[in-house]
Amino acid sequence: MTTFEELGIDARLIQSTTELGYVNPTAIQEQAIPVLLSGTKDFIGLAQTGTGKTAAFGLPLLHIIDEKAKYPQALVVCPTRELCMQIVKEIEIFKKYMTGISVVAVYGGTSIGLQIRDLKRGVQIIVATPGRLIDLIERKAINLEQIQYVVLDEADEMLNMGFQDDIEFILKNTPQRESTWLFSATMPPEIRKVSKRYMKDPVEVTVGKVNTSNKSIDHQYYVTSAQHRYQTLKRIIDFNPGIYGIIFTRTKVDAQEISERLTREGYDIDALHGDLTQGQRDKVMGQFRDKTLQLLIATDVAARGIDVQGITHVINYELPDDVEVYTHRSGRTGRAGLQGICISIVHSKEMYKFKQIERINNSKFSKLDIPSGKDVCRKQFFSFMEKLLSADISHGDYETYVPMLAEKFADVSKEDVLKRVAAMEFDRFLKYYENAEDLNHRDKGRREQSDAPDQARRRDGRDRDGGRSRDGGRERDGGRGDNRKEFARGGGNGYSRLFVNLGTKDGFYKASFLQYILDMSDLKKDALGRIDMKDMNSWIEIEKGAAKQMVNALDGKSYNGRRIRMNDADSGGERRPRKGE
Ligand code: AMP
Repeated sequence: MTTFEELGIDARLIQSTTELGYVNPTAIQEQAIPVLLSGTKDFIGLAQTGTGKTAAFGLPLLHIIDEKAKYPQALVVCPTRELCMQIVKEIEIFKKYMTGISVVAVYGGTSIGLQIRDLKRGVQIIVATPGRLIDLIERKAINLEQIQYVVLDEADEMLNMGFQDDIEFILKNTPQRESTWLFSATMPPEIRKVSKRYMKDPVEVTVGKVNTSNKSIDHQYYVTSAQHRYQTLKRIIDFNPGIYGIIFTRTKVDAQEISERLTREGYDIDALHGDLTQGQRDKVMGQFRDKTLQLLIATDVAARGIDVQGITHVINYELPDDVEVYTHRSGRTGRAGLQGICISIVHSKEMYKFKQIERINNSKFSKLDIPSGKDVCRKQFFSFMEKLLSADISHGDYETYVPMLAEKFADVSKEDVLKRVAAMEFDRFLKYYENAEDLNHRDKGRREQSDAPDQARRRDGRDRDGGRSRDGGRERDGGRGDNRKEFARGGGNGYSRLFVNLGTKDGFYKASFLQYILDMSDLKKDALGRIDMKDMNSWIEIEKGAAKQMVNALDGKSYNGRRIRMNDADSGGERRPRKGE
């Protein structure tokens, strides 16, 4: 096996990687570092998060930077603020013994003034998100004239988020660029295009099979009916006493609601989604990272780029529509050689979708029975016994109290003591699970049960969890449910109708489209009415007061290399869809 010394990196970097506990380079590091150390070769690394790609570019970058030259020499561009901070954090650790190098993070959602001040300090490495970087370039607060190395991290994510024009702008504005290093989990044609246009004979390295899940992840799924989804989630958590995990939902509303509901029921959980302020998000992430929070429930956009060590489980509260989203979600666990579990809660009617993910992911998925109440109690009991037996009693101040305890318990048998301890610990569980029902979806004879919620929803607009009727079933159809039948009222009832040139041909399903437009515009789902999607275009009902914000956020941006056009459907001359179209 190759060592870091053999790869030829600076001894000071070896010292810090040794302290970090890195014994050998990972596959991407082994293949990327020797190429990148030359500083002149373009490079494409097809590698997912969790493969060690930050060190794969971070270490050679630190090695080739001129410590004495106090101007920006390297630019790392990445899709999100979280990833940006994470990269800087890792680079700071790697450069512990290279005091002459400084690195700065530049991202949106925080004071630009402070970042401008940091940039003036003579930094050599800038790690940035595209939007804020462009802002700084336009304010002439950043000078990319002398940038020699540009790293594009999670390039496919950046394109998914509509940053293609920004990336091209950045590449055009780095005239002294000696090499471009592009890292991506997948290789869509748009990335090929960018690489053809801006890179010269890149060395291309693929780690693992692109689009294939990490082999250290065990993929499992449970099939239940829609009305039991929440109970199933609870049971999964209870069945895994030591769980440290992330639960993914499709929408911010779901993340928030489930988090509140579980918190009320005594679970150690918080939500991460785009409706939180940056301060709130940092706080939640900090607690989760420190493990003072056991569970995090998040939307895909909010959780992008999160790298937290030791996540034991990823739970898909619902399956994503997109295979790549599944890969990103599951990649939060099973990192750096550790074993992880990705559990999906699947509705019987979603099985077709699941089969597709299974096929494309090329991984083995195991269908498991949802544990019974008894299974959960047994598991909790064993875990508690283990904890009791492994408690460290070798030193402790309690020694002085032991004689007192012994006296107090003189007439209580050992068995009774154990019973009392168990009663204290398990009463809640035993009561809850005493008559717990079977949550598994069974084909034979139980069809009515699994189908019931959908029928109910169709009749009265209730949502999939059967009881949570708060948003009148909008989540499923992206609209206002059945009580607002007439679409395209053309501005009646305080609503406007927007036209947008994005549709199902762009790879959107209603839920992912809804999330995309809400996340881009920072609006809440409540502002939306019905959404009508066609192959190439969509029509969105939106509260009049919110329409402008949505148009400003989307119009002119690009999605997968295509310029988004959004305008008022009624004044913009876009034909409204006819019934049945
Ligand atoms: P990344 O793909 O950069 O998000 O890295 C995933 C995780 O692997 C990070 O937490 C790194 O600290 C860790 N890591 C990176 N390189 C190595 C290595 N050579 N040995 C062990 N862990 C590593």
